[in-house]
Amino acid sequence: MKALVKRESAPGLWLEEVPVPEVGINDVLIKIKRTAICGTDMHIYNWDNWAQNTIPVPMVIGHEFVGEIIEVGSNVNDFQCGQLVSGEGHVVCGRCRNCMAGRRHLCAHTSGIGVNRPGAFAEFLVLPMSNVWEHRPGIDLDIASLFDPLGNAVHTALQYDLLGEDVLITGAGPIGVMAAAVCRHAGARHIVITDINAKRLAMAKRLGATCTVDASQESLADVRHKLGMSEGFDIGLEMSGSPAALNDLLINMCHGGKVSILGIPADEVSIDLSTVIFNMLTLKGIYGREMYETWYKMSVLIESGLDISPVITHRFGYADFQLGFDVMNSGEACKVILNWE
Ligand code: NAD
Ligand code: ZN
Repeated sequence: MKALVKRESAPGLWLEEVPVPEVGINDVLIKIKRTAICGTDMHIYNWDNWAQNTIPVPMVIGHEFVGEIIEVGSNVNDFQCGQLVSGEGHVVCGRCRNCMAGRRHLCAHTSGIGVNRPGAFAEFLVLPMSNVWEHRPGIDLDIASLFDPLGNAVHTALQYDLLGEDVLITGAGPIGVMAAAVCRHAGARHIVITDINAKRLAMAKRLGATCTVDASQESLADVRHKLGMSEGFDIGLEMSGSPAALNDLLINMCHGGKVSILGIPADEVSIDLSTVIFNMLTLKGIYGREMYETWYKMSVLIESGLDISPVITHRFGYADFQLGFDVMNSGEACKVILNWE
């Protein structure tokens, strides 16, 4: 089969012929239809320090996908050929304390597809049946391929009750703008989003942010006073990975404000803990998605009219993958879809 492989320890990706992975008794074989490029794939493509320290080569990369089941292992009874599926990219151990308690998203021994085990930028993917999510009928294929990052947005945004609340999102990348759409759908009042890139802020507006703030030009304190929020934001979603954005978020929360932190900083970050203490903030780290409550929520949010389609800015056939990675690196793209059919 054709696959996008990190063949050697160097920047770039190679489209190669590799063997179709073997289907174990508990696995399904998926014929890939669409994939999407994630920031993690860009780290691997560009071969930064994190990627060099994390990815064994050679490795088929990619973890955002949708496809059709074409074979099931002998132990698999709940899935059949022909089903349209995506999958949880975190493969959990099943045996640690959290897994045994049913809290699989808190597994202590997760391995990631396209990171620690063969990924989805390929004609075929093998996945344990416990990682498969079947889509509702009628879903658009491009949207279905985005369930992994949409799941990050949904899982982060839905940590706290959003109805009628004032939300601050720092970082209008693909995940931040999808989170804005989720907050709007879930009935938040003000949805203020910050970035330092005007194009990304314009995208956030299209997806439902009620106010966009260029953090390099405007002060968040001024913005919230203009909006009549003298006590600060109820809910904060950190989705930039920027230490400056996190600190700006913390000082603009109301007393008792609740904060979910998804953005991954490149280095150690220092925060003013006295703000957290005296303003009685709750800070929660978020990794991945909840298996499978987040997936259920995503499916029904899409069914009930959540529209994230504007995040898709580019579409290419898989053979033109280079164009996709170039446009991602240029900063012009939000989500880029590769078609494997
Ligand atoms: P992205 O890098 O495309 O978006 C981040 C955005 O933050 C960019 O638009 C950037 O311009 C903006 N930004 C930079 N400095 C800023 C500042 N000072 N103020 C406001 N905005 C600023 O990333 P993404 O794909 O949307 O993902 C969002 C974050 O979540 C990233 O840090 C990513 O690494 C992380 N992530 C975490 C998980 C997890 O499970 N915890 C999963 C996926 C992604
Ligand atoms: Zn586990």
